[in-house]
Amino acid sequence: MITNLEIPDPFQTFVAKKYANAKGYVHDFFTGEWSYRCLTCKDYMSAPSRKIMTKIRLFHTRNECTGGY
Ligand SMILES: [Zn+2]
Repeated sequence: MITNLEIPDPFQTFVAKKYANAKGYVHDFFTGEWSYRCLTCKDYMSAPSRKIMTKIRLFHTRNECTGGY
């Protein structure tokens, strides 16, 4: 469930719905980057691709805030 969309941009909303299974990832159409805000500690992360975003997110949750594990 996406609950922290700060900018209600129609395109981002569309992407967020399209990738609703990606745990809240948001794709920035203009920079081409993926961003994600940790649901536990509210840390903001970004990555050049969705694949890398997942690696960063897993590293963060396992080693930095341990949220959700
Ligand atoms: Zn966190």
